Amino acid sequence: MINIKFPDGAVRQYEKGTNALAIAKSISEGLARKVIAADVNGQVWDATRPINNDSSLKLYTWDDKEGKSTFWHSSAHLMAEAVESLFPGVKFWVGPPVENGFYYDMDLGDRKLTEEDLATLEKKMNELAKQANAYMRKEIPKAEAVKYFTDKGDEYKLDLLQNLNDGEISFYSQGNFTDLCRGPHIPNTGLIKAIKLTSIAGAYWKGDEKNKMLTRVYGITFPSQKELDAYLLMLEEAKKRDHRKLGKELSIFTMDDDIGPGLALWLPNGTIIIEELERLAKETEADGGYKRVVTPHIAKENLYLTSGHLPYYQDSMYPPMELDGTKYYLKAMNCPHHHKIFAAEPKSYKDMPLRLAEYGTCYRYEQSGELFGLMRVRCLHMNDAHIYCTKDQFYEEFKAVNDMYLKYFKIFGIDKYVMRLSLHEPSKLGKKYVDEPELWKETEALVRDVLIRTNTPFIEVQDEAAFYGPKIDVQIWSTIGREFTLATNQVDFAQGRRFKLEFTNSDNKPETPLIIHRAPLGTHERFIGFLLEHYAGKFPAWLAPVQVKVLPISDKFLDYAKTVQKKLKKADIRAEVDDRSEKIGKKIRDTEILKVPYMLVVGEKEMNENKVAVRRHGKGDVGVKGVDDFINEITSEIEERRSDEVNSEQKVQVSQ
Ligand SMILES: [Zn+2]
Ligand SMILES: [Zn+2]
Repeated sequence: MINIKFPDGAVRQYEKGTNALAIAKSISEGLARKVIAADVNGQVWDATRPINNDSSLKLYTWDDKEGKSTFWHSSAHLMAEAVESLFPGVKFWVGPPVENGFYYDMDLGDRKLTEEDLATLEKKMNELAKQANAYMRKEIPKAEAVKYFTDKGDEYKLDLLQNLNDGEISFYSQGNFTDLCRGPHIPNTGLIKAIKLTSIAGAYWKGDEKNKMLTRVYGITFPSQKELDAYLLMLEEAKKRDHRKLGKELSIFTMDDDIGPGLALWLPNGTIIIEELERLAKETEADGGYKRVVTPHIAKENLYLTSGHLPYYQDSMYPPMELDGTKYYLKAMNCPHHHKIFAAEPKSYKDMPLRLAEYGTCYRYEQSGELFGLMRVRCLHMNDAHIYCTKDQFYEEFKAVNDMYLKYFKIFGIDKYVMRLSLHEPSKLGKKYVDEPELWKETEALVRDVLIRTNTPFIEVQDEAAFYGPKIDVQIWSTIGREFTLATNQVDFAQGRRFKLEFTNSDNKPETPLIIHRAPLGTHERFIGFLLEHYAGKFPAWLAPVQVKVLPISDKFLDYAKTVQKKLKKADIRAEVDDRSEKIGKKIRDTEILKVPYMLVVGEKEMNENKVAVRRHGKGDVGVKGVDDFINEITSEIEERRSDEVNSEQKVQVSQ
């Protein structure tokens, strides 16, 4: 018998040679049906792979990241099987899982795949999936593996084999297909219930344009048709909500060839959104005791040598400009500038914590292939701040930052979020991580404690911390369920020392502060890109570039419309008049397209009674109101930054 230890600490005995699937079965049939793979002693394994020694075990289902990637990698094998049965002689390179689905790179000779081929392949895959063929692992001597692929004439797999050592080579087979593969795989093809091959692309072998162009087929699979349908609906919705499309339609931002790729120009409408976001941040930060600073966009090389960004981060920085024999760099991050502000004047414990905030402009040299609308840019405006504090103050400071994130999520109607706590790996101290084992343990425990005590959903990931301390990546989901990485929140116990930052502690001794880097609203670029999708461009009143549009029924009421507009403007409401000589129906439709939250229709009756007929975007007519009553209502909606109406409307739309 062997001992199997479960994540909750329980230990149970099983016969030697058992496997994760059998163990799941011993717990419940229902669980066994869901098990896709397992973590055995820290490695992801096939659920059917025999376990011969005392082990720790964690079962993975579709709900786990590891479960999904195993599912999708197995689907890539299934697709390869279908391809091989339809196009004998095909040669395969690699077929990994990706963020949403999988792909496989293949050499089809002279054959060009078409959309119809994808449909045929899908059909074949469904057929093969129904056979519920088991994925079978076989460890194989190198010579035998080389012979297999030499006989098959697949030079790509032979190339892969070159870099593998005897004793670490395995084959996986299902049905009539065999692949060189490390695994793991799902128990059998029958778990794959819904299949969609999404696209065909060309991909140079090993990513090198001097090499042959292979065919890459992308696909995605699910354990049920229902999940595939929901995914396809989400994609369709995402297309409509594409921030590049909406950004153009709503005149939010533009890009210009003469300015350069990845450098967004914010149009007046986008600038209003930026200013509203900054107003929110400034208010919130003032409440939190932050002080604002302003720093230049360039700095001397030496600053980044001290911070360690040079040479390690050089690829992501614009090349230097040389002036009077000195190299200057565009700033890629605000931290070093803020550290210099901390150091500018002597500090004592009475000055701590010091919280320095700036909507800082940074420049990063993203590869041109990586640039994507507002999501990946080269000039970014960051909701940045650095908090310098003592160890004793750390808990409260970190908690306050965490609370700030939660406050923002509420304002923007972000219901689904998760914090990924990235920890260090003790064996890599002094290499990948600052060699301070005690400080690592201490700060990681403090951060974890904050997350637990505030009931914040989080997951822990080993070996993904920053060089100088643990970090939290914040992942959020838009209304339609698409995931975005918003920002990171980092603890830093190394930069303070590099910059020789000190304060005099209460024992009159110099001490180095801890630093918290935080940017809850990320960058304007990424956050507004997210908001465009999240709200489908229907911004809540407080963020909408135009909050109210006054529509006179005919030119006869234009003067009254302008009087109403004047009153609105006086109350700080962003209002416009549609003064075109168009029919009222057209005016309403055009304003709908611009997604203005409120339309005020005015005619004879409204003019005589000093009233307006109110239409709410997405809701239609909401009745006739006195001008002052309307102003009072919208003012409180704006002041409270309410978005409940917009959000509930969006959710209904998505769940339909
Ligand atoms: Zn594989
Ligand atoms: Zn920073």
